[in-house]
Amino acid sequence: MTERIYDLIIVGAGPAGMTASIYASRANMSVLMLERKYPGGQMQSTEEIENYTGYEHITGPELSEKMFEHSKKFGTEFAFGNITKIEVKEDLKYVTAGSTVYIAKTVIVATGCEHRNLNVPGEKEFSGKGVSYCAVCDGAFFRNKEVVVVGGGDSAVEEALYLSNLVSKVTIVHRRDELRAQKIIQDRAFAKDNIEFIWDSVVTEIKGERKVSSVEVRNVKTEEISSIPTDGIFIYVGRIPQTNDFTDLGIINSSGYIPTNEKLETTIPGIFAAGDVREKEIRQVVTATSDGAIAAQGAYSFVESLK
Ligand code: NAP
Repeated sequence: MTERIYDLIIVGAGPAGMTASIYASRANMSVLMLERKYPGGQMQSTEEIENYTGYEHITGPELSEKMFEHSKKFGTEFAFGNITKIEVKEDLKYVTAGSTVYIAKTVIVATGCEHRNLNVPGEKEFSGKGVSYCAVCDGAFFRNKEVVVVGGGDSAVEEALYLSNLVSKVTIVHRRDELRAQKIIQDRAFAKDNIEFIWDSVVTEIKGERKVSSVEVRNVKTEEISSIPTDGIFIYVGRIPQTNDFTDLGIINSSGYIPTNEKLETTIPGIFAAGDVREKEIRQVVTATSDGAIAAQGAYSFVESLK
């Protein structure tokens, strides 16, 4: 039996990968999309999306499902698998997922980012026992309780807003005295009665017995240490690009992101990068989908050039 050679393998089924699959399969390419967790990527842990054109308001899981259904409509095959290696041999790319090796003429890396840990004592110990990285998944456990949110970016403030509708009080601990989040999100948080801010401060330890009961906070200006009683802590201190398994390819920069040109080509012919994993300024659902379309077009042109 001859091994199947796909025109394109898409690694990662977030908004970038799923959009690439639509564009490539509509261009009649044979496409396999691989995912190690669940389609949707970071959208799955986002409660509200209100800046994706055409949707004034949609939840992350809903948009994930819609995109996934759409992405399979034109013939893309989908498989689960933990992708651990991409190798290039002559003109072909070999993608290892679990115990299977898939072969393609082109690859789009769309593996996105995952949450960054705070790396303080108690974080690992109380993970799932009051420490969470996903308000949508775990918020309901804290109904009418008090929680701390760490971070000052879009994720921290948006998820604090979501939590503020469930819990009695949210305390945002941020290491500076101004937020990084978009202005509209900031304004909403400042207008909420049950969101408080602790500025210029970092969480140094998470404490409890069987579950979280308090966090230690250090003011970085005064060095003062205080203890905040809390039932839970939601950590949103940024994201890490999911490229660890691809370092051998030599296409990753020192921060772990993949630089590309405007056509989303990497330095390896036939390998493209799309979405949050790419070195770029703005990481949004809409920029990820845009990347997916551009990368798919690049993959199509590459396959045509081989004919
Ligand atoms: P982010 O923008 O990188 O923000 C991370 C936040 O955590 C920053 O406020 C940072 O402080 C703080 N931080 C980092 N390391 C820390 C540490 N060790 N201790 C304490 N605080 C720490 O990450 P994000 O909020 O996850 O967003 C990632 C990307 O997704 C961004 O491009 C964002 O715009 C996008 N996003 C967009 C939306 C939306 O448009 N609705 C929603 C979510 C995410 P500093 O500010 O001092 O650096």
